[in-house]
Amino acid sequence: MLLQVQVKLIIYEYGASLIYNRQTPSKEGDTQYRYEFSGWSPAIADGATVGSAALYSATFTPILNYYTVTLPQENGYSINYTGNTSIPYNGDFSFTVDFDEGYYSGENFAVKVNGTAIQSDDNGVFNITGITEDKQITIEGVEYDGEIPVIKSIEDGKTYCEATNFTVEDDSLDSVKINGNIVTPDADGFYIVIPAAEPQTITVADKAGNSISYTITVNDGHTFTNYVSNNDAACTVDGTETAKCDYCDTTDTKTIVDSAIGHNWNEAAYVWSEDGKFCTASRTCRNDANHKEEATAVITSEQSKAATCTEKGETTYSAVFTVDWADEQIKTVADIPATGHALEKVPAKEPTETAEGNIECWYCEICGKYFKDENAQTEISKEQIVIPVNGTESIISTETGDDSNIALWIVVILAAGTAITGAVLCNRKRKYKR
Ligand SMILES: [Zn+2]
Ligand SMILES: [Zn+2]
Ligand SMILES: [Zn+2]
Repeated sequence: MLLQVQVKLIIYEYGASLIYNRQTPSKEGDTQYRYEFSGWSPAIADGATVGSAALYSATFTPILNYYTVTLPQENGYSINYTGNTSIPYNGDFSFTVDFDEGYYSGENFAVKVNGTAIQSDDNGVFNITGITEDKQITIEGVEYDGEIPVIKSIEDGKTYCEATNFTVEDDSLDSVKINGNIVTPDADGFYIVIPAAEPQTITVADKAGNSISYTITVNDGHTFTNYVSNNDAACTVDGTETAKCDYCDTTDTKTIVDSAIGHNWNEAAYVWSEDGKFCTASRTCRNDANHKEEATAVITSEQSKAATCTEKGETTYSAVFTVDWADEQIKTVADIPATGHALEKVPAKEPTETAEGNIECWYCEICGKYFKDENAQTEISKEQIVIPVNGTESIISTETGDDSNIALWIVVILAAGTAITGAVLCNRKRKYKR
């Protein structure tokens, strides 16, 4: 070690008085110490008589140097440390940078000591060791983000029916976690949440410490619980019911098995053909008039009344259906022609004194009736055709005569006295006397 010694030589005459000018000597300090003059050795006796050469040495007390750490005073963070910022020679200073709410270390964040960047240890502690000069700490790149991250496209607390995705917006996005696991977005910025049995929690945090959490449930498919009938069951078609998903607007419609209500038939109606040869049964559904059924009957027939000379006979037709909803029907048709009379002319026969005669007439062998004319227009009784034995009155009657016959007889009366038979006159008089 090179020792630098300052020597001041002062020469006095022998016997002279020593004069001490009280000057204070100094000793240059170093990084570790500064020196404080603490006196002469031996002490200088002011005014003493110089009798011999003497060496006075200045003595100094070393005082350890302290260095000052100057901290930045800016908004957004604070420097935390223990001890104080006056550091003895070769001492250390440790500190952390703690951000205020909303502030964070940006891309260009740097902690510098006297202009040189230093790095923190794993615990975020910055250490300055072996301090032998004043230290000025500066901090750069502190950013501010007062906004909570925004989660888009999903709603907190909602249940989804299939894998769903969301996006995130934040100026200083730090992490996106699903159930505590960091996830990364796809190329379009979407984070996907796949179906799971349990609710899933999405947490988004930014570098400034702002964070937000959503809890959603993602089901694998829709949940249809409450089906409501569509009241659309038809006679032969099952009705349907529809449910809306418990969690979305999707609906599901399904058939209600065995819900067809069946036809509601009205009474069967029957239509006969005039001639009784055909009979049709039909019925219509009260639920839907388009629902109709028809059935054709098997017809059997038998004569139910024989024809007479003048009246038609009748046939009774029976309609039997093979369907169970149609009842047997019966129709009687007067379709057997009357046979007509089988007339035989009965010639007139003059009565004698002992035997009756008869007028000309026609007799039907089938019905046993007598007619005045060959066309069987006027029926007369058997008694009426009789002409009594001679000398008795004829009893030709007009009991069955019509108005025209009455007129005839009136004419006969008016013409009384002319050539008419007494029999006729007597007949009429008798008749009118009644
Ligand atoms: Zn759904
Ligand atoms: Zn019907
Ligand atoms: Zn007849």
